[in-house]
Amino acid sequence: MFNINDSVKERTYDAIVIGSGISGGWAAKELTEKGLKTLVLERGRNVQHLKDYPTTNMMPWEFPHRGQVPLAVTEENPVVSRCYAFKEDAMHFFVKDKEHPYVQDKPFDWIRGYQVGGKSLLWARQTQRWSDFDFEGPARDGFAVDWPIRYKDLAPWYSHVEKFAGISGNKDGLPQLPDGEFLPPLELNDVEKYFKDFVGKNYKDRHVIFGRCAHLTEPKQIHLDQDRAQCQNRVLCQRGCPFGGYFSSNASTLPWAAKTGNLTLRPDSVVQEIMYDEKLGKASGVRVIDANTKAVTEYFASVIFVNASALNTNLLLLNSVSNRFPNGLGNDSGTLGKYVAFHNYRARISGICHDYKDVYTEGRRPSSAYLPRFRNVYKQETDFLRGYAAGFSAGRNTRRDTSGFGQGLKDELMKKQLGDWHVGSHMMGETIPKASNFVALDASQKDAWGMPLLKVNISYDDNDEKMVKDFHEQMTEMYTKAGFTDIKVTDSKQAPGLDIHEMGGARMGHDPKTSMLNKWNQLHACRNVFVTDGACMTSTSTQNPSLTYMALAARAVDYAVEQLKKKEH
Ligand SMILES: Cc1cc2nc3c(=O)[nH]c(=O)nc-3n(C[C@H](O)[C@H](O)[C@H](O)COP(=O)(O)OP(=O)(O)OC[C@H]3O[C@@H](n4cnc5c(N)ncnc54)[C@H](O)[C@@H]3O)c2cc1C
Repeated sequence: MFNINDSVKERTYDAIVIGSGISGGWAAKELTEKGLKTLVLERGRNVQHLKDYPTTNMMPWEFPHRGQVPLAVTEENPVVSRCYAFKEDAMHFFVKDKEHPYVQDKPFDWIRGYQVGGKSLLWARQTQRWSDFDFEGPARDGFAVDWPIRYKDLAPWYSHVEKFAGISGNKDGLPQLPDGEFLPPLELNDVEKYFKDFVGKNYKDRHVIFGRCAHLTEPKQIHLDQDRAQCQNRVLCQRGCPFGGYFSSNASTLPWAAKTGNLTLRPDSVVQEIMYDEKLGKASGVRVIDANTKAVTEYFASVIFVNASALNTNLLLLNSVSNRFPNGLGNDSGTLGKYVAFHNYRARISGICHDYKDVYTEGRRPSSAYLPRFRNVYKQETDFLRGYAAGFSAGRNTRRDTSGFGQGLKDELMKKQLGDWHVGSHMMGETIPKASNFVALDASQKDAWGMPLLKVNISYDDNDEKMVKDFHEQMTEMYTKAGFTDIKVTDSKQAPGLDIHEMGGARMGHDPKTSMLNKWNQLHACRNVFVTDGACMTSTSTQNPSLTYMALAARAVDYAVEQLKKKEH
């Protein structure tokens, strides 16, 4: 049933943004600041900063299961339960397996957050710029199509979003990890500092730095103007932060957009398709199903930003068919849904450091150390393409003997018996975009809102296996030389997806025959539609991707608005 009670005029905006997560929040902020009446459509429920963080101030003993997920919930949710952040304090921000089914042609752990703010409430806030080694990688190695942009195109936009979001970090001067506009970095502990010095002295091409992260270590005026305050190092971020200490759409971009008076935010609005007007030769608007009532409403705009998160954006474009685009909006190249890639997070290493027994660092930090990529940076030197970054952290547990009782137990509890320092790293590997890693629409099955189910066909390849092996070898060598013992390497063999860095399917490229989007994130074949979430990524780098989505979104809005002024859409 179409809603005919309101007029088309009332449902017409300058711009529509689909999705209110990390990238959609940025699109909304930039569009509204530039004066465009903007409608943000979000399929999930409303989550308002402060008001809708029900667990943010709870103490561990206030949780019925002390923070753990009850067995019945785990059994009902085998996919999302595998995500480390799916715990009692934050599980209300995750999509449950049964609520939004999808088809796994091959095992794929699709981790999602459907609400205002999307996954920006849940992310681990690691924010690394990409470098020309990433943007030039495909052209150099021939593993995907050439990116239509280079680092210099994005650098000012990285600065733009970093200043507003608030990124803490150190200027490390590394070509493979460009420096940004940083707030003061967090601190490494003694063992992390030791490993940093050790690696620096012994490997001229390898570095240990403090991981750059979206936390306000020292808020500037622009952050105070957002009503955000300094990060308290509570490390309860996934519950939603009442201080706005880390960047989320809810704390930062969406309220900012609302303050302009140009934002209309409509939660519970499942965008089913982008409508294409054959006569005008452009998209006219979107068809929306109310998530609760299932009523259908159409909204219209001159420009549409698609920010539903990588795989949902693919789903939406594939579901937007017309005579002109029978295989999905803008899909003249036939590449839509293909060349999906992700990050290989399978490999880990742990060990023990027997030194530094006289030091102990108390307190918490929302991030830790990071080893930027060091393989195949300047030249191809291994039997696999591209490389990996690694985390590094060291910590020391307090052990208390709680076996006794009475005064003996009390005395034991008062003693602080510190164990050895434990060290550990995990791999963050780049995977290669291939046509054979794809998503498609299921021919018959639909969800409760009438959308075809997404079929996912994505797997590791030989390149990934070789990378895991190399990570284990190289890290073992570094750990051994550094004097760590009890070294254990593991391969989780986890399915793709659990890295939560799915990218591609509507990739950018110079050539409309082999890509979906041009250098401005604009559909080659439908110029008033822009895709600025992970679906646009031509390749995946080893760095975390979300900062790049933010920068691409801000840059694309700037271009779209210029074009609108010139009446090019
Ligand atoms: C536990 C965890 C840790 C992470 N750590 C990091 C990290 O350290 N660094 C990093 O860079 N990234 C990290 N990520 C990934 C990061 O969260 C995502 O890259 C980022 O949120 C993607 O932004 P997005 O705008 O594309 O999607 P999202 O933030 O997921 O937002 C998409 C929004 O679109 C909505 N939507 C979907 N379909 C429709 C539709 N049809 N109609 C209307 N609305 C729709 C969704 O409900 C959602 O709100 C992490 C993620 C998780 C869960």
